[in-house]
Amino acid sequence: MPAALIDRLRQARRVVFFTGAGVSAESGIPTFREAQTGLWARFRPEELASPEAFRESPQRVWDWYAWRRSACLAARPNPAHHAIAALQRQWPDSVLITQNVDGLHRRAGSVEPLELHGTLHRLACFACGRDAGDWPENPPPSVPRCACGGQLRPAVVWFGEALPAATLRRAVEASEAADLFVSIGTSAQVYPAAELPLLARRQGAWLVEVNPQPAPLSALADLCLHGAAGEVLPALAASLDLGCVDSPGASL
Ligand SMILES: [Zn+2]
Repeated sequence: MPAALIDRLRQARRVVFFTGAGVSAESGIPTFREAQTGLWARFRPEELASPEAFRESPQRVWDWYAWRRSACLAARPNPAHHAIAALQRQWPDSVLITQNVDGLHRRAGSVEPLELHGTLHRLACFACGRDAGDWPENPPPSVPRCACGGQLRPAVVWFGEALPAATLRRAVEASEAADLFVSIGTSAQVYPAAELPLLARRQGAWLVEVNPQPAPLSALADLCLHGAAGEVLPALAASLDLGCVDSPGASL
């Protein structure tokens, strides 16, 4: 790890971790389009993930998400998820913002991630908007209904929908207050999420990008760590542990 980063890690108090599809991919979770194989290949993404699609064919959308969710449950958190959870324990004021809906951060022990695109593991009512709790352990083959009579949908953000306002507001506040912002496995090209690292940078945060390949954000980052998140994040966590050793004169 570069010495400049170690110094920043030692001084940091308000750290934001911001994760995207690259972190999920390292657990073997395909992107939305990669998952569109077999029966699903003939649909446009908007035909599987939009309010219009659910109105037109709720069963098709339900089946797609039941299948996506089972793939996520079969996957496991990878070393990046675990390292982020460990780093969060070092910084009680840190915030994890994720664009991923697979729930792997929670399974790795991260508490209250800000899930900008919602989660595959909860349901909401399509009619009244009520939170409808966890996706049932043994989901019914047909679309379940709310007490109001409306159909239940996965609590994810669909094409054409706004990000959940309260979650986005907390993400903006955390980004503006950050002194270190670590962007991991995201190309940060989809607005408004893409603005978060820029907001943090504008307010004086040190911006670190972790990505296998250079991305548009690289030009703005104070430091780019090119590599797999599952390798870079554990190394970063290990560096911090070294920094906590009470050993005067120890050099890193
Ligand atoms: Zn309802």
